[in-house]
Amino acid sequence: MRVKSFTLIASILLGAANTLGATSTMAQTPVFVPPSRADLLKPAPNPAWNAFTVRGFDTTEIAPGLYTFRYTGTRNIFMVTPDGVIATDPISPEAAKVMRAEIRKVTDKPVKYVVYSHNHWDHIPGGQIFKGEGAAFISHEKCVAHFKDKPNPDIVMPDITFAKDYDLKLGGRTLKLFSLGPNHGDCLIFMQPDAENGRYLFGVDIATPGGAPLTFMVGYDPFNWLRTLKELETMNFGVLIPGHGPPVADKSSLTERRRYLEALMAAVKAAMDAGMPARELEEKVRVPEFAYLRGYDINVRDNVRRIQAYYAIGE
Ligand SMILES: [Zn+2]
Repeated sequence: MRVKSFTLIASILLGAANTLGATSTMAQTPVFVPPSRADLLKPAPNPAWNAFTVRGFDTTEIAPGLYTFRYTGTRNIFMVTPDGVIATDPISPEAAKVMRAEIRKVTDKPVKYVVYSHNHWDHIPGGQIFKGEGAAFISHEKCVAHFKDKPNPDIVMPDITFAKDYDLKLGGRTLKLFSLGPNHGDCLIFMQPDAENGRYLFGVDIATPGGAPLTFMVGYDPFNWLRTLKELETMNFGVLIPGHGPPVADKSSLTERRRYLEALMAAVKAAMDAGMPARELEEKVRVPEFAYLRGYDINVRDNVRRIQAYYAIGE
């Protein structure tokens, strides 16, 4: 009854608005207008990073021959060279199909390589379509054990693996791949395209620009996460292309994530040292200076529990 009344009121209001000539497209899905590149490249905290929806897909040319493709909430990159395409994380069978069509819009060349950022299922299933056109698959060597341990029929096994660094060369272009050891799992790699003298770093799940870490920070080792962020902060690049979030974000998004973790860990540790019981920690420990982060209200409680477990058991 209430719902019906609400609908009725809404349609009367909508009708009134239309009668008044407010807009004839009022009931249509609004067109997503992404923030400008200049706005996205402003340092943290940056509200423009929150604008990206998790619906649909988009493809953005970041630099000549360097693209990022987003499908729902997950993002990858691909590089177009005269001899073919280097693709990364296929995301899912559905996403890979859309991505294949998006790549076709900018080149007729085949996908020669698919590089996996890490082993997680929200990034890498769906590679069969590229395997079918002859692509070779590349991952960190430690991902193989995960693929064997938890088989997923949608994940294509890698053909090439490496332990530390790998310079992937194709058509006169280079995509530098490197590991910084364990952080988010034990086989996450970073990718630095040669575009604009290495200005960009594709870094999946190491930071979600503008957002708080999701739930229990699944797969992260807090100590090694901090260590990796500090190492990345000293490296010579300026722009992060994240695995979730905007197409580009200033490198300060890594600093923002490190400071959040440091503040969270210090707050949890202090409360534990003061004898606060585990169940009270999740209710009481907060880092209000980071309340502006997208999803903070939903995730901070689980973030606290994850850090409590880390300090309690060392894992
Ligand atoms: Zn992940």
